[in-house]
Amino acid sequence: MNDYRVLLYYHYVKIEDPQAAREEHLTFCKSINLLGRIYISEEGINGTVSGLTQDVDTYITWMENHHYFKGVTYKIDEADAHAFKKMHVRVKNELVNFSLEDDINPKELTGRYVEPKEFFERISDPDTIIIDARNDYEFDLGHFRGAVKPEIKTFRELPNWIRENKDRFKGKKILTYCTGGVRCEKFSGWLKREGFDDVGQLHGGIVTYGKDPVAQGAYWDGQCYVFDNRIAVPVNRVNPRVVGRDFFTGEPCERYINCANPECNKQFLCTEENEKRFRGSCSDACRIHPRNRYVEK
Ligand SMILES: [Zn+2]
Repeated sequence: MNDYRVLLYYHYVKIEDPQAAREEHLTFCKSINLLGRIYISEEGINGTVSGLTQDVDTYITWMENHHYFKGVTYKIDEADAHAFKKMHVRVKNELVNFSLEDDINPKELTGRYVEPKEFFERISDPDTIIIDARNDYEFDLGHFRGAVKPEIKTFRELPNWIRENKDRFKGKKILTYCTGGVRCEKFSGWLKREGFDDVGQLHGGIVTYGKDPVAQGAYWDGQCYVFDNRIAVPVNRVNPRVVGRDFFTGEPCERYINCANPECNKQFLCTEENEKRFRGSCSDACRIHPRNRYVEK
C-alpha cells in the first residue's frame, strides 16, 4: 500500500524547442513507467504524473539534472495506485489557457508569493478579498470559506469578469489561489498590470496549503478538484465540511460523474442513488438519447 506517488508541478522557463523537449520527455517517462499528463510550451512545463515511488524518484533526479528543469518544486501525494491510464506529453501555445492578447510573463510580472501560514491568517481579514482562479466545477466541489467565485465557465473568461466587477475589489488587498499555483502566476501578474497594487498569490496552491503544518487546510470547505482519476482529494485536516451538492436534489455530495450521453459528457455531482434513478444523465434528453451508455451495476 502507498507504494505510488502522484506529482504535481510547474516551472516557467524559456524552452527553445518545445517539440524536441516533448519527444525527450515522453521517451523518458515511458521508460520508467510513469503515467500522466504533461504540457510543454515555449514558456515552460506543467505536469502531473504518477508512478511507483522509486520511478518517481528517478524522474525527479532526472529533472534536477536537466538544464531546463532544475529547481522545480514538486507537490507529492502518496497513493496506492496510478492516478492515470496513459502517458501524454503535449506541446501547447501556453501552459494555462489564459489567451491574453498581450501575454504575461510571470518571471517578469507576478503577484507576491503568500505562504500558507500568512494566507491562513488573512482569511478572516476584512480588508482582504480572496479570488478563486479556477473553473466553476472546481469551485463547486470545494473552495476557501468566503472566497469570491467568478461567474465564468473557463479560465480565459476571468480577465473580462474582473473588469466588469472592478468595483467589488476597489481598495481591497487581493489574494488569489488555484490548485497548484500555475494559473495564479499569470492571473496575479495580470491583476497587477490592471492596476491593483496589493496582489498576493497562494504559493504552491491549495495542495500545498493542505499539507502545511500550521494551516493544515483550515477554512478550506469541501474537497479539492484534481485533474486525475482521483478527481477529489481532501485538504482540510482541522474543520472540514461538505459544500458539494447533488445536481438533482441538492443534498450534500462530493461525487462527480460524467453524463451517460457521450455527446453531452457534462460533469456533475451526483449521489449513487440518483445516478441509478436518472440513468447517469443530466437531463431527460440525455437520458433517452440513443447512444446513452448507462449500464446498471
Ligand atoms: Zn447530459
